[in-house]
Amino acid sequence: MANIIDGKVISKQIKDELKEQVACLNRDGKEVCLAVIQVGNDPASTVYVGNKKKACEYIGIKSLAYELPEKTTEAELIELIEKLNKDDNVHGILVQLPVPKHINEETIINAISPSKDVDGFHPSSVGALSIGKKGFVSCTPAGIIQLLKRSGIEISGKECVVVGRSNIVGKPMAMLLLRENGTVTVCHSKTKDLKEVCKRADILVVAIGRPKMIDASYVKEGATVIDVGIHRNENGKLCGDVDYESVEPVAGAITPVPGGVGPMTIAMLMNNCVEAVL
Ligand code: NDP
Repeated sequence: MANIIDGKVISKQIKDELKEQVACLNRDGKEVCLAVIQVGNDPASTVYVGNKKKACEYIGIKSLAYELPEKTTEAELIELIEKLNKDDNVHGILVQLPVPKHINEETIINAISPSKDVDGFHPSSVGALSIGKKGFVSCTPAGIIQLLKRSGIEISGKECVVVGRSNIVGKPMAMLLLRENGTVTVCHSKTKDLKEVCKRADILVVAIGRPKMIDASYVKEGATVIDVGIHRNENGKLCGDVDYESVEPVAGAITPVPGGVGPMTIAMLMNNCVEAVL
């Protein structure tokens, strides 16, 4: 039976630590402020934005909500971002993705000042991560490193396999594992013998976006399995990219879905907001 890595408990620990840090900052007369911009009213985005606001409230971070209509132009959005870039009272700026199709996502990410890029998506933040300099780190992979460390799972010297090479999960995940001295392999849709590569992993991070694709036949006995995927079936039940029932008996440790990686993403966003002030 695998140890269950509990993202709810670990994210709560992190949020409680941040709450104390924010209280200290407040005592020194400093307030932490995050600006959250949502364009349009995609229901999933509204839920994510609501969860971010709740986390801000819990920790004591001031959140400014900008709910812009669907028809907002790219120029109008950039104008708002530039105003917030210049506002010394705003420490973090987040544009909830995806933005409507008439707005170029890359242009928007590039418009956010790297010093306020709490999502860690700006090319400067990505570059800083790859050359080992200080900068904001994409929240989901940063959260996975916390899950591993706080569960006492050694990364140094371990075979780490990341399945998925997206800019927001797979690639920064690989860089972070490398920074922690893991031996890292990144797989994608063109990888040959995916099963064999995954079976080498001491730490297997799965971010493919395919429900329950990774079953026990991909997993070495005793491996740590981190499931980034989130899918909702027709009955509203959540599952990940890993077939939990099949893998759990084989793995040494595993993250459940829900309650594994998911809660860590917001906790690390809050962490980045606090770091923006320090
Ligand atoms: P993307 O769709 O951007 O990337 C998926 C990656 O998986 C690509 O690199 C793709 O390869 C690879 N891939 C797809 N099919 C296969 C296959 N059959 N074999 C091997 N590799 C494959 O997804 P994201 O990284 O954005 O997200 C991945 C999952 O994580 C999703 O379910 C998403 O909802 C979830 N997610 C969860 C978060 C959380 O907070 N828990 C945060 C972000 C994402 P190629 O590059 O060759 O196309």
